[in-house]
Amino acid sequence: MDKIASFQMDHEKLLPGLYVSRKDTWNGVTITTFDMRMKAPNREPVMDMPVMHTLEHLAATYMRNDPKFGPKMVYFGPMGCRTGCYFLMEGDLNPSDVLDLVIKTLDWILAFEGEIPGAKPKECGNYLEHNLNTTKYEAKKYVELLRHATEANFSYPK
Ligand SMILES: [Zn+2]
Repeated sequence: MDKIASFQMDHEKLLPGLYVSRKDTWNGVTITTFDMRMKAPNREPVMDMPVMHTLEHLAATYMRNDPKFGPKMVYFGPMGCRTGCYFLMEGDLNPSDVLDLVIKTLDWILAFEGEIPGAKPKECGNYLEHNLNTTKYEAKKYVELLRHATEANFSYPK
């Protein structure tokens, strides 16, 4: 079988950042897959499962409710390697198009208090596995990185 595009990028050189993973076009509609890379792969401890889960619930809620980008959101979900998340959005887009949205999402998570959306037993497949405090710790690290990011944090290594 062919090695898919996301396995061909050199993860040993990849920095935390915000990247375009791929763009796919069907019948004239382009979907951009963004790589929200929060950890340096294979060089930094990964996030734990409760953090990935809380991040998924909160980020998906915020992004899908955003007046401008919500209607374009296709998917938000954690990476199996637990170094970040992917989100898919309608349009031929670049990191600069969504950087403000991602920063606003992280700031919202940092200020979030109370019940995690969709985390009741009827709404979620593993409702007890959440951790808001550690999610805020990881969101703070990532938002600081994005605020001080350079070009190397927005384009995949060659
Ligand atoms: Zn859930």
